[in-house]
Amino acid sequence: SSRLDSEVEEALLSPSLPGTLGREGDTPGEPPTVVRFDDVSKVYNGATTKAVDGVSLDIRAGEFFSILGPSGSGKTSCLRMIAGFEQPSSGRILLDGVDVQGIPPYRRDVNTVFQNYALFPHMSIEANVSYPLRMHRVAKHEIAERVAETLALVEMEELRMRFPHQLSGGQRQRAALARALVGRPKVLLLDEPLGALDLQLRQQMQLALKQLQRDVGITFVYVTHDQGEALSMSDRMAVMSAGHIEQVGTPREVYFHPNTPFVAGFIGKANLGRGTVVLESGAAVGHWGGISFPMAADTPLGPCAFSLRHESVSLSDGAGDITVRGTVEEVVFLGDSSEVMVAVDGMTLVAKAPAHIGFALSNGQAITASFKATEVVRIDG
Ligand code: ADP
Ligand code: MG
Repeated sequence: SSRLDSEVEEALLSPSLPGTLGREGDTPGEPPTVVRFDDVSKVYNGATTKAVDGVSLDIRAGEFFSILGPSGSGKTSCLRMIAGFEQPSSGRILLDGVDVQGIPPYRRDVNTVFQNYALFPHMSIEANVSYPLRMHRVAKHEIAERVAETLALVEMEELRMRFPHQLSGGQRQRAALARALVGRPKVLLLDEPLGALDLQLRQQMQLALKQLQRDVGITFVYVTHDQGEALSMSDRMAVMSAGHIEQVGTPREVYFHPNTPFVAGFIGKANLGRGTVVLESGAAVGHWGGISFPMAADTPLGPCAFSLRHESVSLSDGAGDITVRGTVEEVVFLGDSSEVMVAVDGMTLVAKAPAHIGFALSNGQAITASFKATEVVRIDG
């Protein structure tokens, strides 16, 4: 669309020439914050709900930072406010410590890779990639040098004379990346950039993107609804739901210590339910359905939510310290594994089991499941 084209051009005209690669941080030892959301909300014209609702966030120099959330949770809106295509309704966005309100996209040291690549169809790949430098009237020899360097970075040197329609989806994506990187923006914004690729290519590109980001040291803000992508590539990630941030942390923190039932349910596959923690003979004990298990001594008492990952529930003898008896309700074959639903004391516990174990089970059969008490996560609320 023409709106998109003009956005692409604006985004490509970011002012960061010559490059800011390898710039030292403002505070020795601590990477500076390059993107800050300060209580940012966004209400679109005519909308009754906030697309973005009180988001505060610090993204540091050199980070691969992902924003993960389901469709409609406000990820793209956040990205577009960083780029300057949308304005916050309230709150502030700071780039490199400067409030960017009123600063147009082309004057922000930020570039965007769009999901649909948005390459100029009538230009060769080389012309596409050199375009931002030509617009900035960079000297010819420097353009040649930087285009060559950037095409090498994305392994597209051989294809530089081709036109976009002569490339595969993955190649187009790499060309779009090169065009966004050639001006060496301080921050690269990527909005579901691999969404149009098939699974295998997507996984290859995930690795390539992560390596590329490490090589160039540019801060990446990566929007995706795909948890696998966020978990495998990010240094840190924010999980969004309905316009607000549920949790910010490293992939490990978010995966193993979800702060909210939403995060526990959205990332990975987990048994989720309500229960309570009570003091019994001086020790904290969790009760969840008919199951009880010891909790750490400092666990807050009272009602809470519990989460236990499918892969934390074992159907082999002696794997966990808490053993429950139940019956097989259902077995779902997933290819590399099976999901086994076990009816236990009025609740269903789902176990991720090796496929061959799933094959050997039939509905209604008695079964013993076990888990480690330490793998049960207590969640507020
Ligand atoms: P995501 O990228 O996570 O799918 P978006 O930021 O695109 O989410 O959208 C968040 C919410 O804002 C959605 O309810 C969406 O319908 C709404 N929205 C997005 N863009 C606009 C717009 N230009 N005008 C009105 N509503 C919008
Ligand atoms: Mg989106």
